[in-house]
Amino acid sequence: MTATLMDGKRVASETLAAAEKRVAKIKEDTGVTPCLATILVGADPASITYTQMKRRRCEGIGMISRKVELPEDTTTQGLLDVVNELGSDPSVHGILLQHPSPPQVDERAAFEAIPVGKDVDGVTYGSFAHMWFGEGGFASCTPGGIVRLLDAYDVPIEGKHAVVIGRSAILGKPMAGLLLDRNATVTICHSRTQNLAEIVKQADIVVAAVGRAEFVKGDWIKPGAVVMDAGYSDNKGDVEFETAKEVASLITPVPGGVGPMTIATLIDQTVDAAAKQLGVA
Ligand code: NAP
Repeated sequence: MTATLMDGKRVASETLAAAEKRVAKIKEDTGVTPCLATILVGADPASITYTQMKRRRCEGIGMISRKVELPEDTTTQGLLDVVNELGSDPSVHGILLQHPSPPQVDERAAFEAIPVGKDVDGVTYGSFAHMWFGEGGFASCTPGGIVRLLDAYDVPIEGKHAVVIGRSAILGKPMAGLLLDRNATVTICHSRTQNLAEIVKQADIVVAAVGRAEFVKGDWIKPGAVVMDAGYSDNKGDVEFETAKEVASLITPVPGGVGPMTIATLIDQTVDAAAKQLGVA
């Protein structure tokens, strides 16, 4: 068997095209343009690139992108003041604080200052709790994007065994919560998991979020399983793609699979936030 490749680029551009139409409709109905504020503290080159990409996508679909750049030596209080101001500004509908912040900043405190209704990146305790309790709320964008990609390929989730490898707060844990919310039977694996290969072999859906290139081997995959690879380092994912694609039924390539879905989810959730705040949801 050779797996079908899940085209995250295509699904992301369809998601953005649908978001663009919603933005136009919101503008028409309310006279207000949805706005995402991106906050970048310092000058980490990867963070600069990521925020630029997010801002470009926003502007590309007719949204306003409010750029906030703060110096490397910004204090926690300085950042909190900015987040609080954006939080109470009715013309800002979503707030993204680019991670990581410089070490002197209490990033958790800054995240928690984002009102849950504007937390379109799904980073606050409130968003996580809403998601975990199955009460909606904004998803962490990579796991949210993975679910969208599964849906775009009509992958049944209910009743299936999903194995998530990784338990980080931004990826593994929210991923497990979203799949559980969709009635999957979920196993979460991590660095202390024993018999990892045996567990992965039982999975109908595998989500690899380990941060180690080609860590998940093709012979761990059950024939016909769906493989979602969130990993990204040097154009390689966390799954050994060449061997896994011979066994899986569907698999995400790296790049071009999960990655593009992350920004598309961020943008779509910002449009949701704007619609809700403007009462046109
Ligand atoms: P992370 O915080 O480093 O977490 C990695 C997880 O993998 C941890 O839970 C860790 O377990 C687990 N792990 C490490 N070694 C393991 C092993 N030998 N066996 C089983 N589990 C093991 O990483 P992350 O932020 O979740 O990111 C994961 C990957 O996704 C990275 O490649 C990252 O680049 C990528 N990523 C992609 C996007 C995107 O937009 N596509 C966004 C975010 C991240 P412990 O908890 O026990 O340490």
